[in-house]
Amino acid sequence: MLARQEKRHVKRSTFRDCGRRCVYCSTILGLDITTLDHVFPLSRGGTNAPGNLVAACQQCNQLKGSLLPQEFFARYPWAGANFIRYARVVHRTLKRGARRAVSLAYAQAA
Ligand SMILES: [Zn+2]
Repeated sequence: MLARQEKRHVKRSTFRDCGRRCVYCSTILGLDITTLDHVFPLSRGGTNAPGNLVAACQQCNQLKGSLLPQEFFARYPWAGANFIRYARVVHRTLKRGARRAVSLAYAQAA
């Protein structure tokens, strides 16, 4: 019971911290359709720490799947660009990694 309340609280604060948007496609979301995404996937060693959680729409969450953030952003640089802009409270190393992946992806596309 407590765990569920805790989870709801985490979702609400993450949602707020992300500007009520999907941090990957920047779509404005309602709390009811927001999903919590683990930037560094749980299945690949990520944690439930707030610095690893962002708000995402269902489509982006699905698109990202169990990709590492750098893999996801290399494939979809637009998602990385939005992430840099909107995922304000994620861990600093995640942001640094995103910046690197996005600039690399754009450099390769040019
Ligand atoms: Zn999205």
